[in-house]
Amino acid sequence: MDETIALAGNPNSGKTTLFNELTGSRQHVGNYPGVTVEKKQGTYINNGYKLNIVDLPGTYSLTAYSLEEVVARDFLVNEKPEMVVNIVDASNLERNLYLTLQFMEIGIPVCIALNMMDVAETRGIEININKLSRLLGIPVVPTIARSGKGKKELMETVAKSIKNTNPAPLDISYGDDVDKALGEIEEKIKAKNFLTENYRARWTALKYLEKDEQILKLGQKTNPSLSKELEQIVQKVSDHLNETLDTYPEAMIADYRYGYIKSIIKQGVIRHNQDRNRLYTSDKIDKVVTNRFLGPIIMVMVLIGLYKFTFTYSEMPVGWFESFFGWLGEFAETHLAEGLLKSLIISGVIDGVGGVLGFVPLIMFMFFGISLLEDSGYLARVAYMLDRIFRFFGLHGSSVMAFIVSGGIAGGCAVPGVMATRTLKSPRERLATLLTVPFMSCAAKLPVFALLTAAFFAENEAMIMVIITLIAWLGALITAKVLRTTVIKGESTPFVMELPPYRLPTFKGLLIHTWERTWQYVKKAGTIILGISIILWAMMTFPNLPESKTKIFEQKRQTLLASAPASIANEVEAAGKDPKFSPGAMELKKQLSTIDSQEAEAALKNSIAGRFGMALEGITKLAGFDWRTNIALVGGFAAKEVVVSTLGTAYSLGEVDLEESGSLSQTLARAPGWNSLVAFSLIIFTIFYAPCFVAVVCIAREAGSWKWGAFSMAFNTALAFCLAVAVFQIGSFLGY
Ligand code: GDP
Ligand code: MG
Repeated sequence: MDETIALAGNPNSGKTTLFNELTGSRQHVGNYPGVTVEKKQGTYINNGYKLNIVDLPGTYSLTAYSLEEVVARDFLVNEKPEMVVNIVDASNLERNLYLTLQFMEIGIPVCIALNMMDVAETRGIEININKLSRLLGIPVVPTIARSGKGKKELMETVAKSIKNTNPAPLDISYGDDVDKALGEIEEKIKAKNFLTENYRARWTALKYLEKDEQILKLGQKTNPSLSKELEQIVQKVSDHLNETLDTYPEAMIADYRYGYIKSIIKQGVIRHNQDRNRLYTSDKIDKVVTNRFLGPIIMVMVLIGLYKFTFTYSEMPVGWFESFFGWLGEFAETHLAEGLLKSLIISGVIDGVGGVLGFVPLIMFMFFGISLLEDSGYLARVAYMLDRIFRFFGLHGSSVMAFIVSGGIAGGCAVPGVMATRTLKSPRERLATLLTVPFMSCAAKLPVFALLTAAFFAENEAMIMVIITLIAWLGALITAKVLRTTVIKGESTPFVMELPPYRLPTFKGLLIHTWERTWQYVKKAGTIILGISIILWAMMTFPNLPESKTKIFEQKRQTLLASAPASIANEVEAAGKDPKFSPGAMELKKQLSTIDSQEAEAALKNSIAGRFGMALEGITKLAGFDWRTNIALVGGFAAKEVVVSTLGTAYSLGEVDLEESGSLSQTLARAPGWNSLVAFSLIIFTIFYAPCFVAVVCIAREAGSWKWGAFSMAFNTALAFCLAVAVFQIGSFLGY
């Protein structure tokens, strides 16, 4: 049987780096069962032994406050890995050990990888590793994950300690009062074997004292009467602590944990070699980067730089992708027999999904840039700087991260964004964040923006992207403010965030992050978007034009051919592939294809989707959208990329214009009814309108009611429509 070890530690301690070092290419990414938190798994092979390694989400604690904490804890308790390798940031020992202590309390074997030894050294922190190991009673191995230093020693130590039997779990004292209650609860738990198949009795008791929601719920379900008894004991000691010390059990427990750590560190584990007041490099950089005046300027410049970088360098490869799909379309055109299958493959699949896949290089460059900002520690500064502004609008510093995850810079997804709001403790701030994160430019909206800017604003792509971002944030903030002063009124809560030090990201790390995200995009295009594209193709194809109508077009063609001189008509009819026409035949050919286009358009209008789009046109023309756009936007409820694929299919089905076929953006730029004002109005609508189906489900689930899912659909669409109409009407009035 293979042994499993879990890598766990505070965020930014170097877990992922170490994981990549250990597993190399033998890794895969998935989700934990039932939750969309990334689960990385891999294998480490050396000298004939093999270990499964799981990278747990980074946490500071193991309470049930955030999703990450619950996931990490559940994994340890339910999957029972042989050992936890706890990555500890040596430059921040005291704070990191808080988590270590909680692993030891669970009773799972722990080994410390004392990482960032290089950082500790440059800061003049000297750690007595033997002493630390002895005092904690667990193995400690120094590492520098970034260069792979110490990984072999670490794994040897792990392999050795797995074979030794389990160490005694750590039972520390939490002060007289808590200890007494703890003992009382523990006894009752043991007597009834309450939850003991998974949890140590003392640990469950501790969780009851900490009022851990997850365990309380589980307890109430498993044995309601016992659970009630235990809660009464907790209540008693809470009241007592409140009276005597003006505190509560949870705070007491935390205090004693820190006290325990302090006492270990004070016994000569750490020695500082340099003046502690000296500013670290990170602090020096922060003096400039988070400066009141310079900070925002730098932030906007970073944003512009990122977009310029993305659009400039992705232009060529996007061109290659477009040419490739163009070639693929032509290949299918010449090699497939006429009929439904051909239409499905060309219009539904190649012109639909191809349009979405064409933007893969752009997505990749964007993700690379964002990974760079994230890995270097800059994004944390953005959250820090925006906290004050956010507070003013009724949000919270932690909302910033949710916004960024959702695509605040571009290229995220509202689903993990909605999940990220779990770190917000105030339900009202959380709801306001939940409802506004869908305005961000998620990776699915990006191809829509890219398509429209390529067609109508090709000169200023980066600038338009900056404007889109500013509009999205401004819209989100104003909406939040309105919601927080009306439907979800309430106080703001303070924000505490420690800024992680700046770090030079590794190229390997950046590539891995970029690739993981890009692959998600490709996978979605190849599965969900493909499926929806095919459905929409069918809705745009059926019912077919009735024979009475097709006859009329056929007659028109015949009349035209009959009225032309016989020699020219013959020349056109006999033409094969790539014919060289005489000027007269050219003219006739053009007139014929006009009839073909009219027929194709009549067929599209006659289809289910076409009728639907036409029915909406009455209102949507106020915003400048024609029936084809309406089909695309309705499809976009399923997933925003579908706006692009549907426009691709719609114009592909309608298009018979042989000489001028090109990429979708070229088609749009030429198509009647389109201009830069319509494009801008559509961009505005796309920013704000209803979140995609999956996001709505998530919002409803996280907000705890379908009411809020329905609200975000209706409210966002109404808001989007009003804004698009305003843009289009004012623009038209000004003569654009
Ligand atoms: P995680 O959040 O715990 O997964 O942390 P990461 O693995 O993403 O690492 C955070 C940052 O620390 C990255 O920029 C790494 O390159 C950097 N890093 C990781 N280990 C070390 C180390 O031992 N020394 C130094 N100087 N940097 C490290
Ligand atoms: Mg990580």
